Amino acid sequence: MYRHILVAIDPSSEAETVIAKAMAQPRSNAARVTLIHVQEPVGYAYGGDIPLDLSEVTESLREQAETQMKKLAQEAGLDSRNCELRFGRPATEIHNFASDNDVDLIVIGSHGRSGLQLLLGSTANSVLHGAPCDVLAVRIGRSD
Ligand code: AMP
Repeated sequence: MYRHILVAIDPSSEAETVIAKAMAQPRSNAARVTLIHVQEPVGYAYGGDIPLDLSEVTESLREQAETQMKKLAQEAGLDSRNCELRFGRPATEIHNFASDNDVDLIVIGSHGRSGLQLLLGSTANSVLHGAPCDVLAVRIGRSD
């Protein structure tokens, strides 16, 4: 039985499927379920070449992500304190959180925004490699 399940959430419509699968895993009575979303620095998309002040964009994306994550948590019957918003590279932040918080299962979608054409999305792939615990990649069918 799992004691702390970490669910990786991106803003795709697959998030609900991934959360439902996580909630269906065997867990002890006192088990925790945490939703995590990692916001990637906006500048990554531009290779940092364009001298723009992206702090407002970053802030508004953060607010959107937070609102959406809290909504998903509520729908799953989880407290908003079980939402973790981090900043950086998704796989690195997910691994760090998992190691620091005794996570024993990470649940992730087999693809999200960027992985429609791939068997395993790039984030799922990176999370699997070097994970400090079990990883469940929830298969997301094309028709979902
Ligand atoms: P992708 O690699 O974009 O196809 O995403 C595959 C899965 O990785 C998604 O279904 C989510 O479970 C997870 N994921 C993708 N991006 C993030 C992110 N920024 N933060 C947390 N989880 C993510």
